[in-house]
Amino acid sequence: MPPSSYSLQALLKQVDQGSIVELLREMIAIPSVNPFDEPANEDCRELEIADYYQSRMDHLGLLTSRRDVVSGRPNIFGRVKGNGAGPCVMLAGHLDTVGVTGYSNPFDPVIRNKRVYGRGSCDMKAGLAAFIEVARIIIQNDIELAGDLLIAGIADEEHHMIGSKEIRENGPIPDFAIVGEPTELEVCHAHKGQLCMHIRTHGRACHSSMPELGINAITHMSKVIAAFEGYNDELRSRPAHPVCGHGRFSPGVIRGGDIASSVPDYCELEVDRRMLVGESTESVVSEYRKRIDPLTSSVPGFNYEIGPATIEISALDTPLESPVVEQSAQAFSDTVGRATELAPFAGATDAPNLLCPAVICGPGSIRQAHTLDEFVEIDQVTDAAKIYLRTVLAMQLIV
Ligand SMILES: [Zn+2]
Repeated sequence: MPPSSYSLQALLKQVDQGSIVELLREMIAIPSVNPFDEPANEDCRELEIADYYQSRMDHLGLLTSRRDVVSGRPNIFGRVKGNGAGPCVMLAGHLDTVGVTGYSNPFDPVIRNKRVYGRGSCDMKAGLAAFIEVARIIIQNDIELAGDLLIAGIADEEHHMIGSKEIRENGPIPDFAIVGEPTELEVCHAHKGQLCMHIRTHGRACHSSMPELGINAITHMSKVIAAFEGYNDELRSRPAHPVCGHGRFSPGVIRGGDIASSVPDYCELEVDRRMLVGESTESVVSEYRKRIDPLTSSVPGFNYEIGPATIEISALDTPLESPVVEQSAQAFSDTVGRATELAPFAGATDAPNLLCPAVICGPGSIRQAHTLDEFVEIDQVTDAAKIYLRTVLAMQLIV
């Protein structure tokens, strides 16, 4: 049916809470923990949830495809073709979850107090379930889209984001994207980027009874840490991003030495830097070097290196006047009954890798994500489906 001849209110009434919750529970029951740097195990079934998600899209009649990012870890795509007159809008979500150590019954979805509990419930299988409902309503009502609706189930968001990086390399690149990470439905058009790297000091080992014969890599690392004193103050003194504020620096992990009776010849520090748009890996590394380099002349035997990035995620800064921001903010207020706050998203996401104007908007709260008692409010999941449906239909009118 052409866009002019359907009743939006009638379509919104078709959002079916029962089928969304059933889909969500089935997805929670498929453990899709990110294997991180470990070998895959029985809880790490990204392949199985990808198969499941693709089969649900096949069942509805979407044109589906898949591409292995690495063996057994695919990205999944489902497309509802438009007539070519409008923009391609992607609804994107990741298929993996964080780990479950200490979580009792993480894959046993429980409904209680109008919530669905279980690992991945809010981060972010609820968003994935709502996407399917949008496609179902569009297809079953024979709505003629101007631009393609593209649903993407993405691998490995919780670690190196190799899934969305693969999309960045090989497409499909949409005109606009909505990433369904948990924002309690608020529309977030910006977030900081993240850069993690190792700083290493190299010394010379010897017996600790004669430490003067060695070079202590741990002592030298303490000087590196001291060299970063005031760095956050310096970052705060720079002009702030209107939404994201300032960049941040945090040393997170330190390793070095084997036994107390040896002078350690090696120490490494993992550092985390939250970046603003306009900052790059190169610019941050040169800031690090500016602070550490003076030690090479002032500290005898000082020797360091900075390793390649272990996590490297760009910042997101979609202009407020972008149609995807305007239309999703309108859809939020039409659904929720007040204006969205347009606050930044706290974490980093796949969105910058999709190479198009994008927003983060999804059911559930970041406060529940990654906890041992993860849940999502059922009403938020159905409202998410309504917000996505309104936005996708409104975007059809964008030329
Ligand atoms: Zn997530």
